[in-house]
Amino acid sequence: MKLFGGIEAGGTKFVCMIGTDPEHLSKEERFPTTTPRETIRKVTEFFLPYVKSGELAAAGIASFGPLDLHPDSPTYGYITTTPKEGWSQVNLYGEICRSLNVPVAIDTDVNAAAFGEQYWIPENRSLDPFLYVTVGTGIGVGAIINGSPLHGLLHAEAGHFALPHDWQRDPFPGVCPYHNDCLEGLASGLSMAKRWEQKPEHLPASHPAWDLESDYIALALVNLIYAYSPQRIILGGGVAQHPGLIQDVRCKVRQFMKGYLRSSMLMERIDEYILPPALGNRSGGLGAIAMAANLAA
Ligand SMILES: [Zn+2]
Repeated sequence: MKLFGGIEAGGTKFVCMIGTDPEHLSKEERFPTTTPRETIRKVTEFFLPYVKSGELAAAGIASFGPLDLHPDSPTYGYITTTPKEGWSQVNLYGEICRSLNVPVAIDTDVNAAAFGEQYWIPENRSLDPFLYVTVGTGIGVGAIINGSPLHGLLHAEAGHFALPHDWQRDPFPGVCPYHNDCLEGLASGLSMAKRWEQKPEHLPASHPAWDLESDYIALALVNLIYAYSPQRIILGGGVAQHPGLIQDVRCKVRQFMKGYLRSSMLMERIDEYILPPALGNRSGGLGAIAMAANLAA
């Protein structure tokens, strides 16, 4: 039997999975991200029995970034300039290729999540462009356009969109180390924790934090809708799963567009248009398995 490996490489933890599809995983393991050497050794050990038995057909990596994804670059698949200590200029792709000795695909965690949500969910398959937006500790956007994950000059960083910032309503300066009050600086889980001095999961539903948060997310989605004309948007990440938030975001997206785009999907059917991830919080790892399955197909 042919099995596919998925590696979700995060800044705080790595998740390894192996199986044929989301319903048929043989094994799954998570461990903290330590040094590159130790972490990559643990990945290798996880997959080794399947490499030896010849069952592992291909692997996918859904990685934190920034990543070099230029196919012609001598440092393809490297993590480039991360503030994460010890991980700058690490050849993640090359090391995994060498130790597993099977075809390997690599992409950003958000592009992999977008790919997985589209690949494994039949009703998403034909929807293109297809966006995955995550609002968790940070904010990221993955895009599948014309069937492929979007790359370009570098990779898209829509988490750093500039947004209108009403300083009277929200005097908080933002937390982005580069821009202060970009989208991530104003609306990430980290910014909520700093602004309100408690973790977002502890903020009650009646707290004004959530009205502000749904405003920022809805503004970002409106910009994304104008820029990419997506056929569906998946809104993932821990903060976005707060009860009632996605409903507020849908209402505000419609409201902020002021009827500019005439589509029944945006008007009457927005409940089918902006959806939580069908793969839950495993879109990244299962997306990596999808990339592996796609590579082996
Ligand atoms: Zn920023």
